[in-house]
Amino acid sequence: MQILKNSNFRALSKIAGMKPEEVIELVKKSGLSGRGGANFPTGLKLEFTRSSQGEKYVIANADEGEPGTFKDKLILEKNPNNVIEGMIIAGYAIGSSKGYLYLRGEYSYLKNKLQKVINNAKKIADKLKIYFDIEIISGAGAYICGDETAIIESVEGKRGNPRLKPPFPANQGLFNKPTLINNVETLANLPLIILDKSWNNSFRLFSLSGNITKPGVYELESGASLKKLINLGKPKNKIKAVYFGCSGGCLPYEDIALNNEAVKEKGAMLGSCAIIAVDEKHNIVDVATNIAKFFEYESCGKCTPCREGTMRVLELLEKISLKKAANEDLELLEELCRVINETSLCGLGQSSTAHITTALKYFRKEFTDKLK
Ligand code: SF4
Repeated sequence: MQILKNSNFRALSKIAGMKPEEVIELVKKSGLSGRGGANFPTGLKLEFTRSSQGEKYVIANADEGEPGTFKDKLILEKNPNNVIEGMIIAGYAIGSSKGYLYLRGEYSYLKNKLQKVINNAKKIADKLKIYFDIEIISGAGAYICGDETAIIESVEGKRGNPRLKPPFPANQGLFNKPTLINNVETLANLPLIILDKSWNNSFRLFSLSGNITKPGVYELESGASLKKLINLGKPKNKIKAVYFGCSGGCLPYEDIALNNEAVKEKGAMLGSCAIIAVDEKHNIVDVATNIAKFFEYESCGKCTPCREGTMRVLELLEKISLKKAANEDLELLEELCRVINETSLCGLGQSSTAHITTALKYFRKEFTDKLK
């Protein structure tokens, strides 16, 4: 796998002879974009943060909480050097001397290993006169802390609630200072971009799980066929649907290209490339109810549409499951999904209903079959 090539801190020696602007230019030319799901061009983000005034920070988002996503875990376990080196490179590029690695609570078993890598990297960087300190902050298991502004609140020692944007972190982030926040996979690619001319921007890591016998992380080119990926997972039964994590929605299983454009055209979102396969032995209403329980539990409660809406959505889905719902309930569910999507404050609420709207689009019969 390209992402597991250990750069062994050699990129630090190379950037020590470069100007920060040259590093940013190299990242811009590489075409790297955020691999946490947002796809924002990384070079531009570096440039924006560099051009902001004052003390700056780097945050590595290792709070991988999207159900079905476990690619960052693989990188942190197998190639932590590149993540830490990537943070130092990012710090050097934007002019920062302090970084925080925000580690998902469930990944705390990796803390000692990561601390050793940080200590080792610091010795090498200091010798090169690149001064950058990294602190590990453990999350407490809240899904919302995958949101960049909620991470900032959490690192500041507050409850992890999202902030309204703008201002964006590149202007006003941690302690109200310019802050660069990037996901683990994005940062781990930076040393490879600096060192390796053959680095390929089209490789993507797909976390594959669900009703298959070989779940795991597969590295394929962006645009690879969904069928190829599902076959690698060796399903036992006929697959009828694929979910893009819990927030990207679902599509009927057909051979589409795995890239943002193709998935979006069908009404779903590829996001962080988590694919959950669902076979024909499972009912989509049951899947929807399970996912709705997740969002109802994880809503941080800051805004009304999400806090109240996710509860009402769950109630309606449970009513449908119990065959106590009428057609008006289904119409109410659709209306509620639209309102939650349009009025919630952050990405969690906005995307919490995509799995229902896409399921109603493609698997409506499974819902109407359960009406009284
Ligand atoms: S949308 Fe949900 S998670 Fe986001 S701020 Fe509102 S209540 Fe919190």
